[in-house]
Amino acid sequence: GRKFFVGGNWKCNGTTDQVEKIVKTLNEGQVPSPDVVEVVVSPPYVFLPVVKSQLRPEFQVAAQNCWVKKGGAFTGEVSAEMLVNLGVPWVILGHSERRALLGESNEFVGDKVAYALSQGLKVIACVGETLEQREAGSTMDVVAAQTKAIAEKINDWSNVVIAYEPVWAIGTGKVATPDQAQEVHASLRDWLRINVSPEVAESTRIIYGGSVTGANCKELAAKHDVDGFLVGGASLKPEFIDIINSAT
Ligand code: 13P
Repeated sequence: GRKFFVGGNWKCNGTTDQVEKIVKTLNEGQVPSPDVVEVVVSPPYVFLPVVKSQLRPEFQVAAQNCWVKKGGAFTGEVSAEMLVNLGVPWVILGHSERRALLGESNEFVGDKVAYALSQGLKVIACVGETLEQREAGSTMDVVAAQTKAIAEKINDWSNVVIAYEPVWAIGTGKVATPDQAQEVHASLRDWLRINVSPEVAESTRIIYGGSVTGANCKELAAKHDVDGFLVGGASLKPEFIDIINSAT
């Protein structure tokens, strides 16, 4: 089976005091064993070392982005090699906020995923449609194109988690219904079966993101193809512990 995966994307939030409080909450929370659920929290770059050093050892950390290739003269960027050097095992790539606000194309995200994997990072690769695209009936075309741009650049999917995050659900309080999430997750899995391999389709975790809360996570988690969550706003709050517990 696919191990349940819960990611907490803190986005561009937090002061040192707030980070300390969140880490304390995480460290004190009652959660299932790491055999049952993989928990990965993603603070801003500047807080990665302190969070990594203070967090309970069964919780891992992720960066929210990294540079597309080897580091060098790229002012303001952080390279995959630096994350590896710090012992950061995971990176989130292709988040819709970066696609929309920073102009990251499908191809650029595919290149980033391939480079990060080549350096030994594990990748949470985000895909998802806008409301306009959903209403036009092109949801599956959009997420397939985003996934294809990654599939064209990689061979080994064992260190990839796909996060399906419909843009209309992110930060809006408008969570996808369990059926809406299941439909896209199942279609993505079919896409992997046909275009990559049955083994990759069966083993790759496809997690849902977009207005996940302690109150709605159980119903979503019950769906066959929902293998966990990527949580934004609620990952900064004690209810993140409840979301981790939706694994069981
Ligand atoms: P929210 O949970 O705040 O809607 O954000 C989801 C998200 O973008 C996680 O990457």
